[in-house]
Amino acid sequence: MMQSLVDVSANGGIALGGKVVCDGFLANAPVRVQTHIHADHMSDFESSKGFQTILMSEPTKELLVVELDAELSYRSNVIAIPTGQSYEIEGCRIELVPSGHMLGSTQVGVTLHDGSRVAYSGDFNWPLNNVIRTDVLVVDSTYGSPDRARQYSQSEVNDRLIDLVLRRLRQGPVHIKAHRGTLERALELLDGATQAPIIATRKLCKEVDVYRRFGYQIRPVLDIDSEDARHFLTEGQYLRLYGIGEGDLFGLDEGTAINLSAFMASTTDPVLELSPKAFRVAMTCHADFEGTLRYIEATRAQLVITDNYRGGHAVDLANAVRSQLGIDAAPSQLQPGRYWGE
Ligand SMILES: [Zn+2]
Ligand SMILES: [Zn+2]
Repeated sequence: MMQSLVDVSANGGIALGGKVVCDGFLANAPVRVQTHIHADHMSDFESSKGFQTILMSEPTKELLVVELDAELSYRSNVIAIPTGQSYEIEGCRIELVPSGHMLGSTQVGVTLHDGSRVAYSGDFNWPLNNVIRTDVLVVDSTYGSPDRARQYSQSEVNDRLIDLVLRRLRQGPVHIKAHRGTLERALELLDGATQAPIIATRKLCKEVDVYRRFGYQIRPVLDIDSEDARHFLTEGQYLRLYGIGEGDLFGLDEGTAINLSAFMASTTDPVLELSPKAFRVAMTCHADFEGTLRYIEATRAQLVITDNYRGGHAVDLANAVRSQLGIDAAPSQLQPGRYWGE
């Protein structure tokens, strides 16, 4: 019975009971919870704005205001929940707990009217201080395959990144591209290691400002269209940041290109040299396979549904949860309409 109310829909919405959907839109669910701002979690946000109450963390709301438009901050159906507070709506108690994936990202727990608990991990990192407890869990499966177990720690990755950037800065500019959140984490690391000016688009500068307001130690980033930035661009020793969708790093005239991504990276060496001027560093804000299993254990879930929508390893992960943890598990079904009226 429970499973028909907890699943991932064909458009990526994670249904937690009949009233709440995370990171997607379902016509019959009056409440949407937005776990974080990454594009694969933003489907049908416009429909939600028109028809649902949308709950999120305070940083996520500020990042969305930068990303979408300021109008969002005046809408009465877009509600930011302070960390540590729960929210009662439609007979459910909703709890958002940080997931360590990026600024503002959360796990989502819903206590239904009968007292049973259903939850969605959101994208998460491991280890985590505070893991949500639940009966049924929908879990992100991005690195849910045993061949995605990394043989290096993220602190080793951090050291290698700093080392690479400092070395390459001596030869000219360094261009760094990453997903939002990963980029700012790298920036915080590099901020302490180099005095080189940091340059980005105006939009990215505003985004970094939000991170700074929420406690990231990052010096102000220069707007690429400003006088100062233009001066440094001719000097040749600077860091230039790119968000996803902000241009291609290949074919740059000068300097070094560094992509921060653990996607398809080697599991044994975090730095991949793509050419003498281009590198990929396996920096990620996702738990790896082992971390994913430890997370699932910590939730105490009795039934686990692996997210089969977001390009991960849902089938592998469900198999591993059953065989290695002895917990009932299945990949999500992705059938439209399966959740309602059954
Ligand atoms: Zn994400
Ligand atoms: Zn994701």
